[in-house]
Amino acid sequence: QDSVPEKIDYVFKVVVIGDSAVGKTQILSRFTKNEFCFDSKSTIGVEFQTRTVNIKGKVIKAQIWDTAGQERYRAVTSAYYRGALGAMLVYDITKRQSFDHVARWVEELRAHADSSIVIMLIGNKADLVDLRAVPTEHAVEFAEDQGLFFAETSALSGENVDKAFFILLEEIYGVIC
Ligand code: GDP
Repeated sequence: QDSVPEKIDYVFKVVVIGDSAVGKTQILSRFTKNEFCFDSKSTIGVEFQTRTVNIKGKVIKAQIWDTAGQERYRAVTSAYYRGALGAMLVYDITKRQSFDHVARWVEELRAHADSSIVIMLIGNKADLVDLRAVPTEHAVEFAEDQGLFFAETSALSGENVDKAFFILLEEIYGVIC
């Protein structure tokens, strides 16, 4: 542990949204702690987690917000979106319904978040290849249509999680800096 505090150039707020049980909490914990926790709801009440990364020579603190289960009650409020520069919109590649609801989440973002927010569509649980219910091409098409970035990830194996966050953070950097 370095005792000299790092100089932070920017703090980027990123929100993670999507239906419940798609893996939002696990994606966040994979990115910020490189952990997958089987007892996943132990983090309830924690509003956000952070990871400090280097983007184009700048020190960026990514402050990543979890809904902490509020999406179950459609209680994600505009306070959650306030100041967010990026959004990870997550569905589960094994649950068709979670993909069908993505359009609704995009509307929610367009209504409550800043219009310049960078959105990354994430098809999570890519490790469950035999249970796939959403073809990659459908998601690619939707993402292109809506102007979203897209990646398939596995919070379980870690596949593509860092990559997706880095693409999002670099894009945000490009938008605001
Ligand atoms: P949230 O409600 O969207 O925050 O979803 P959670 O992060 O709590 O995950 C819901 C369930 O899916 C939990 O049982 C996780 O262990 C599981 N899960 C999350 N991500 C993955 C993944 O990438 N692969 C697999 N196989 N299971 C996952």
